[in-house]
Amino acid sequence: MSLVVDHDPECLFCKIAAGKIPSRVVVEDDEFFAFHDIHPWAPVHFLIIPKLHIPSMAQVGLDDAGLMGRMMALVPKLALQEGCNPYPQGGFRLVTNTGAEGGQEVQHLHFHVMGGPRPWLRG
Ligand code: AMP
Ligand code: ZN
Repeated sequence: MSLVVDHDPECLFCKIAAGKIPSRVVVEDDEFFAFHDIHPWAPVHFLIIPKLHIPSMAQVGLDDAGLMGRMMALVPKLALQEGCNPYPQGGFRLVTNTGAEGGQEVQHLHFHVMGGPRPWLRG
């Protein structure tokens, strides 16, 4: 991760993780911050970010295996906690947009977790 800085003072999600911009917090620990998306597509729609400023999945490599594994392990736990219905009738969608052609708008790695009864606004 030689190209990754710990924290980018100009980054929207770094500011949210630091509490400098308000958000509807789902959970916070030493490594991660989860908060509700400001424009939800689904009845449940929240974002999970590492506090470390990793710009996108394009920068993720084997050195990040532990961090990424812990981030993924948060998904099913928080999905149920936030109101997604249990698998298999319920479930959730996990999305990570990457780069311009991947539809990424905020350049700080984030997982979208979406769920709840359909129809959804998008997706
Ligand atoms: P992406 O297009 O994958 O980069 O997703 C960025 C997401 O961040 C979008 O779904 C936005 O609605 C969401 N977003 C942007 N600003 C905020 C904010 N201040 N608080 C919560 N979510 C935000
Ligand atoms: Zn950032």
